[in-house]
Amino acid sequence: MEIKYVSTTCPYCGTGCGFNLVVRDGKVFDVAHWQRAPVNGGKLCPKGRYAHEFINSPDRLTKPLIKKDGGFVEATWDEAYDLIAEKFGSYNPDEIACLSSARTSNEENYLMQKFARVVLKTPHVDHCARLCHASTVAGLAAVFGSGAMTNSIKDIAESKCVFVLGSNTFEQHPLIGRSIIRAKEAGGKVIVADPRYTPTAKQADLYMPFISGTDVAILNGLMQEIIKNGREDKEFIEKRTKDFEKLKEVVMKDDYSLENVSKVSGTPVEGLRTAAEWIATADVATLIYSMGITQHTVGVDNVKSTANLMMLTGNLGKPGSGVNPLRGQNNVQGACDMGALPNVYSGYQKVTDEAAQKKMKEMWGVEEIAEGKVGYTVTEMVNVLAESPGKLKAMYIMGENPMLSDPDLGHVEEGLRNLEFLVVQDIFLTETAELADVVLPAACYAEKDGTQTNTERRVQRWKKAQDPPGEAKEDWKILCELGSRMGYPEQFAFESPEAVFDEVAAVTPSYHGMSYGRLDPDGLHWPCPTEEHPGTPILHRETFAMPDGLGVFSPIEWKPPAEVPDAEYPFVLTTGRTIWQWHTGTMTRRSWSLEKEAPIGWIEINPEDAKALGIKDEEVVRASTRRGSVEIPARVTPEIIKGVMFIPFHYKEHPANRLTHNALDPVAKIPEFKACAVRVEKITEE
Ligand code: SF4
Repeated sequence: MEIKYVSTTCPYCGTGCGFNLVVRDGKVFDVAHWQRAPVNGGKLCPKGRYAHEFINSPDRLTKPLIKKDGGFVEATWDEAYDLIAEKFGSYNPDEIACLSSARTSNEENYLMQKFARVVLKTPHVDHCARLCHASTVAGLAAVFGSGAMTNSIKDIAESKCVFVLGSNTFEQHPLIGRSIIRAKEAGGKVIVADPRYTPTAKQADLYMPFISGTDVAILNGLMQEIIKNGREDKEFIEKRTKDFEKLKEVVMKDDYSLENVSKVSGTPVEGLRTAAEWIATADVATLIYSMGITQHTVGVDNVKSTANLMMLTGNLGKPGSGVNPLRGQNNVQGACDMGALPNVYSGYQKVTDEAAQKKMKEMWGVEEIAEGKVGYTVTEMVNVLAESPGKLKAMYIMGENPMLSDPDLGHVEEGLRNLEFLVVQDIFLTETAELADVVLPAACYAEKDGTQTNTERRVQRWKKAQDPPGEAKEDWKILCELGSRMGYPEQFAFESPEAVFDEVAAVTPSYHGMSYGRLDPDGLHWPCPTEEHPGTPILHRETFAMPDGLGVFSPIEWKPPAEVPDAEYPFVLTTGRTIWQWHTGTMTRRSWSLEKEAPIGWIEINPEDAKALGIKDEEVVRASTRRGSVEIPARVTPEIIKGVMFIPFHYKEHPANRLTHNALDPVAKIPEFKACAVRVEKITEE
């Protein structure tokens, strides 16, 4: 019996923890701590600890499937490829769309956008960053010139004031939570603002409950208080920024006095005053946010407002400071970096820039690629499918499950059913794969080499520990075989993920200096422009990545969510996750150690609201919005602010996204998962 240990990177959240997969006789059977792992030093949260359990699930897809007479039949790879090539070849480029995946490697995301642009010649390629941090990419790029976490995870421990807004860090990025605890142990203050009294909030020195959707009002109120007390960092503002006077004109309005902000947000004046004082007077402060900030119709405004606060207080470009969005999926940062987005090639080179188009055509050795227009986002694809049937006719979805992850599931299903031809490539037969015409069985993270980029822009290796089950193949290999079969053998003649990465490095300025050899064992933070460059854990030290080097203040007025409570739907619904499950549950719900901890969904209701509705703890209630209804057990708890209700979105039996609203941020096109109007009622016997 041979046992070996293969060090790799966790497939769940964007923290990017490293661990060892333990392999016996060619099969992974456990996870073991990897003490020198660069991000987590051997520590793991429950999801990482049990990240081996789904790998050899009997539910894994092992053969290509083709739908015939409403059911799936097993097929050979040749049959599946032939059908896909014939069908995709029969549509105009503008009629096909591709979804890439933040669960797959950088190399695979790079290949998917190359496949879309070179082979299909469609501009319509996107991935699930649209649902979580599209507003970060757009918002931070507009104010700093770079749409990513400004500092490193380790760096948070050096902060003297950590302001966590819209992030349940201890449950969703637990190993980043460790850095917050370290900051606290070193005497730093921790402020948490959240509608729920989460495990993160419980660690705070100051907890600020607030009504979902009032972030800009709170941030403007804090800035007014700081300016009123003369605590803004005048030197930083003068030397490093522009448009401060425009910001001041808005935030000094009476609307943003602490009293008025308190009325709008439900958070007490005293908490707001203390937060303003702590942030402004700390030697160094950092702001951490996640999807509580981004998943709104004002997601970009929210992101820009967080940047306003940190520029106002001079908290950028130094250890312990920064604006730090915590990316959700393991490789959502990398999928964006690789250009699996409708508006940019890898390294955020704009598709509308003729010089970038020329560069890509030369690198890819083709005369023609998707014309240089911005394609549809995920959310626009669904809207086009549902509302303009026939405009999009075929889709290729790799490793995504919109039938559970996207807002307003009725609308999503209507859209996907309007497709003439759907290909889904995944490791399990997901709710989305069930609607497909062809299903391609893919390898999981433990079955392939590759790289992923974590939330702090650190590019790290995945290493193969076992073979895929049955005839399943690595996503990069499937894309190469399909690309070759569809007429581009030279463009997809890669023998290994390393060869793909070398092309990524050649064509992507922020990855120019990277190679597999340099990534072992600690990875490298981008930008890493040359082979000698050590990587960049802290951005914006001297200047911002703008043409004039200055950060841009953005005057922003608070706007309410697209749908606010009324007499018919009197509460605010917000959604999120639990530490035990991951997104649509395809992996965690097949991991016994995790599933047994949180096997069913629930709706959190404040005791005062529950009393008024006559609802008891654990009673099954009906939650309804204008999109649909879900019957779900109530969890009556004071740990949620009155007037707001919460449902985790992992459970197909209690699908939160049947209720959510697909109203979009006008710039980032991210949906408003975090606030819509809901009615909750007792279920009475007929
Ligand atoms: Fe994996 Fe994130 Fe947990 Fe680390 S914190 S073990 S990356 S799920």
